[in-house]
Amino acid sequence: MKTVPEQFGSLVFDDRVMKAKLSAKVYASLKKTIDEGERLDLTVANAVADAMKDWAVANGATHYTHWFQPLTGITAEKHDSFITPSPDGGVIMEFSGKELIKGEPDASSFPSGGLRATFEARGYTAWDPTSYAFIKGKTLCIPTAFCSYGGEALDKKTPLLRSMEALSKQAIRILKLFGNDTVKCVRTSVGPEQEYFLVDKEMYNKRKDLVYTGRTLFGAKAPKGQEMDDHYFGVIKPRVAAFMQDLNEELWKLGILAKTEHNEVAPAQHELAPIYTTTNIATDHNQLTMEIMQKVASKHGLVCLLHEKPFAGVNGSGKHNNWSIATDTGVNLLSPGETPHENAQFLLFLCSVIKAVDEYQDLLRISVATAGNDHRLGANEAPPAVVSIFLGDELTAILEAIETDSPYTAAEKSQMKLGVHVLPKFTKDTTDRNRTSPFAFTGNKFEFRMLGSSNSIACANIMLNSAVAEELKQFADELEGAKDFNEALHALIKKTIKEHKRIIFNGNGYDDAWIKEATEERGLLNYRTTPDCLPHLTDKKNVDMLTSHKVFSVAELESRCEVLLENYCKTVMIEANTMVDIARKEILPAIVSYVSDLAKTAKTKLAVAPDAASSYEKKLITKLSVLTEQISDKTDELEKAIVDTKFAMDIVDEAYKIRDTVLSKMSDLRAVADEAETLTAEKYWPFPTYGDLLFGVR
Ligand code: ADP
Ligand code: MG
Repeated sequence: MKTVPEQFGSLVFDDRVMKAKLSAKVYASLKKTIDEGERLDLTVANAVADAMKDWAVANGATHYTHWFQPLTGITAEKHDSFITPSPDGGVIMEFSGKELIKGEPDASSFPSGGLRATFEARGYTAWDPTSYAFIKGKTLCIPTAFCSYGGEALDKKTPLLRSMEALSKQAIRILKLFGNDTVKCVRTSVGPEQEYFLVDKEMYNKRKDLVYTGRTLFGAKAPKGQEMDDHYFGVIKPRVAAFMQDLNEELWKLGILAKTEHNEVAPAQHELAPIYTTTNIATDHNQLTMEIMQKVASKHGLVCLLHEKPFAGVNGSGKHNNWSIATDTGVNLLSPGETPHENAQFLLFLCSVIKAVDEYQDLLRISVATAGNDHRLGANEAPPAVVSIFLGDELTAILEAIETDSPYTAAEKSQMKLGVHVLPKFTKDTTDRNRTSPFAFTGNKFEFRMLGSSNSIACANIMLNSAVAEELKQFADELEGAKDFNEALHALIKKTIKEHKRIIFNGNGYDDAWIKEATEERGLLNYRTTPDCLPHLTDKKNVDMLTSHKVFSVAELESRCEVLLENYCKTVMIEANTMVDIARKEILPAIVSYVSDLAKTAKTKLAVAPDAASSYEKKLITKLSVLTEQISDKTDELEKAIVDTKFAMDIVDEAYKIRDTVLSKMSDLRAVADEAETLTAEKYWPFPTYGDLLFGVR
């Protein structure tokens, strides 16, 4: 058996392999491309491709693919084999620099929100040398960006890379002002904590709702849910432990730093957290993690559910995006420093995040908006749909002192002055973490907690990076022209706190009183559902910001808005159609069959023993007959609501119709069907129950 260090990264064409397999000259040239974004010339690309192919073939690969992240939310790949015919009738394995750098998948079936129609029908993929190639199965996967021939991004990686570049550029300007001329690049890092459910595969296959939609659309509550709090951090069951061990090994081989695993709050719910890494690599790794989770689960007779709300009545799943900004020299810019000078720099970066989150609350909300996540946000199990920042009492007190020109502790004599005072050490207090905050400062990073478990982390980080880049730009513009840097810096920080402190909230985000205060007194946004927020993607202020940093073009934003709305509509419509199907073909026949057997029993009883009571059967027959009628009526009503969406004026109107009528008809139908489930004998019920699903894996 290989040890973990031997296994780690064994399927990755990483720096160790590059150093070993490439000539010094080629390696140096490739490194320059990776670290400094320098253009790669074709001779270097050819050498890299050749080495990559030899390495991949030696590790069992026969094919290669340009691996990319279209707007569907999952990854895409089209496999080509390395074979080329040789004159003697055989084949040789070949892979050129051109094939490495650029691919042309037939992309006409990927969602583009009309982009490709207006430009070119075909798209192309371009190698992202900052993310290592890896082997999956028998295929060498080359991480790529996906664009149209007009240059428009058709994927999530391209804008993510652009947003990282924008932030780096502006952060370097700020660092220069603090006398730092050596930093060449500033990168954001992310450690995404991934939640998921595991259910038994056989049971899963009996549930059309899980198979078609990833969540249960019917299901009465099991007698036990999460009320005992006995699952969180509980002992991991043998079958789950075996899955986790296998999963870790697969992830380690791919160079993914899987670190922490534990049971979550809901029964059958678990979490995996990797060690953080550069955002675009973290994004690739998170996509791979989700994919490998599903594959490994299948090998263990399990299914991994990544849906945000697979079960009603117990917690859904999210993803915590732990985010920080660091220089290429290894300094975390969100970490309070040792000296007054470093502290001032930290406070400026902190203020850039505070201002960014306040001014672009809508973009952060939009970045996590999906039909699935609408079930969580604001449902008192995940942060509310209102965006706010938790800073903790200590840091909040410091900002208050700066804002009001007062000492920051009672013992302090003089007022808080930047560049003079040393900040107190913030102890990273793990006991008093505010879990209800959507955006929490946790010592040296921010934790954005609104992401849904199946979301790509790309979207949230694109918005976060871009918004912070914008604020850093404004700060740099102001400070670069200042006569007295320290004075100007102090004034700028003070002003930023004053103008944006409304976004800071250290209390309980689940409290109704907070939502009232946030919206009525503080004027914060509360976009409760996806149709409420998505159209704001193309608000002028958002378009101006995102286009000025070249993260998106206007056409790209419009197309994305359309794709996201379409995705919302399609998701709910598939759910609605699945419900109609299950109600008619499974639930109604099951109840009818039970009722018919009850009636037979009652009749037999009467014949055999005319005096015997049969009021139990009669009562049950009556109750279930009423419910049968209701289920049938509600199914018809849902079907009508589905048909009515066809008359929507446009996609926004359709999304609203779906939210306001289809979803409510779905819950009406569910309510009566779930009640019928509680009255129907177990052996008649056509599919596994909540109890089976949530407690069935041992
Ligand atoms: P928890 O939130 O569960 O208490 P931690 O806060 O320690 O756990 O870590 C959660 C995630 O945050 C991990 O993926 C970890 O690697 C990541 N993380 C830690 N430090 C940073 C950082 N400076 N930047 C980005 N992510 C980080
Ligand atoms: Mg966390």
